[in-house]
Amino acid sequence: MNDGTTRREFLGSIAAFSLFPLEQEKPDLILHNGHIVTMNAADPAAEAVAISRGRFFAVGKNADVMNLAAAGVRKMDLGGKTVLPGFIDAHSHPAEAGLSHLRMLDCDLRSISAIQAALRERAAKTPAGEWVLGFKYDDTKTEDGRPLNVADLDSAVPDHPVHIVHRGGHTVYANSLGFGKAGIDERTPDPPGGKIDHEPSTGKLNGRVAESAQAFFEKVIPHNFTRDDHREGVKLISKMLARTGITSATEAQGTPVDLRAYQDARDSGDLLFRAYCFINYRFIDAMTEAGVRTGLGDEWVRVGAMKLVCDGSISERTARLSVPYEGRPNDYGILVMTEEELYTYGRKAHFAGWQIGTHANGDVGIDTTLRVYERLQRESPRRDPRFRLEHCTLINDNLIARIKALGAIPTPFSTYVYYHGEKMRYYGAERLNHMFALRSFLDAGIRATQASDYPPGEFIPMMALQSEVTRTDTKGNSWGPKQKISVEEAIRVGTINGAYASYEENLKGSIETGKLADLVVLGRDPLKENPSTLVTIPVERTMAGGRWTFEL
Ligand SMILES: [Zn+2]
Repeated sequence: MNDGTTRREFLGSIAAFSLFPLEQEKPDLILHNGHIVTMNAADPAAEAVAISRGRFFAVGKNADVMNLAAAGVRKMDLGGKTVLPGFIDAHSHPAEAGLSHLRMLDCDLRSISAIQAALRERAAKTPAGEWVLGFKYDDTKTEDGRPLNVADLDSAVPDHPVHIVHRGGHTVYANSLGFGKAGIDERTPDPPGGKIDHEPSTGKLNGRVAESAQAFFEKVIPHNFTRDDHREGVKLISKMLARTGITSATEAQGTPVDLRAYQDARDSGDLLFRAYCFINYRFIDAMTEAGVRTGLGDEWVRVGAMKLVCDGSISERTARLSVPYEGRPNDYGILVMTEEELYTYGRKAHFAGWQIGTHANGDVGIDTTLRVYERLQRESPRRDPRFRLEHCTLINDNLIARIKALGAIPTPFSTYVYYHGEKMRYYGAERLNHMFALRSFLDAGIRATQASDYPPGEFIPMMALQSEVTRTDTKGNSWGPKQKISVEEAIRVGTINGAYASYEENLKGSIETGKLADLVVLGRDPLKENPSTLVTIPVERTMAGGRWTFEL
């Protein structure tokens, strides 16, 4: 079988066994004796794969694939372990998260006093006058039952300005020195699309600002990251994602600097996932003038959609809803951009051949965004625009029908029910049956994806599976059980659907001959697992492009 001609004749005789036509017909690695769930509808199960130059060279039964083994080919016995295609996180913020993990205090702690202690420690190491920066603070996850306020921050850090970003990224908390540096006082009016919170009884600043009011701080906090820092951030987050089985991620709020960071990390060998890099609308003119549009790049770093933002967030309860938040009768959430603004930028992008991804959480936000997309298609029909609805959280029958008609792609939060269960009461049990609505999307034939939105959500794919399949949080509360999907559907959502969302369904998302060799080896079979323990299934290995990016 070592002679090329013989092998070709042998292969020609096997049915349901295809070979990728490479000039070099020798695999460099064979994985065998596995339970391989391919997500290829034509050939859903396999035992072995051969890999050549980063792609699947053959997928099939042990004996057939092993017959391809020429001298010097590496072989690995999978010991019957389950293999899935590598997971695709269709909405996340890896570049920024990586930088934050490098430089900021991780405030994902369970009490205000623990956060204060960590801030004190950080301040002691911070030169006088410089900012103490934190992220991943979550007001609903501290035992105190109240949010962090300006007095908490002043008492912990009196001599440095403090700025802490909420886990959701749409609100920030500051101490008095921080407000002073940002030029905010009690009389500063709310900017359009933003809010500066006051203590109702005294009118004093209470420490929190929301949405566009964050810009006051962005102007004064120095972002003196070097080009190397940005690459280091991508390197750090690469390792974090790889160990959970992620092989591709959409960078949902990218800038030209992020695009460069991904390229730098690719060139230095530190990029362990494939990045589909959205570009924020503010950069769209410059990039379009340079001849850039969606799809430019290679299988590791590719220019994604233009990003727009319509409304607020789910985790921080600022999404724009048609019916107010539970217990807050006048609070409908926030619209961040007007419909006209969305249309103006959308039109530019649509005409220049960009895909568009608009952050739209609440039913009002989704309705507004769909109106813009419908208008663009009416005025200038494009064959396959794959409009994206980033998050697309709260739906109804009318929205579903319009999403289907447009062929639009929702990227609902995958881990929120499980991980953010304590926030669900603000929406109420009935509304939850129409949120993160995978059952509704799949039943309508809409190709929804898996999406973490990290840092706001956890990015662990096995947690996404459990959340989507059980609709149950960590305390055992069920939220929106009508939207449950099966484990197999959840895997499809997290793999091939994610590839479709970036126009890469012919390149990845399933274990198929000719596709990129991206896969994950699991310690147990999710299809046989009790759904309530899916999150505990260990990821043993992750492979991207034929290279192990994580090994236990
Ligand atoms: Zn996001």
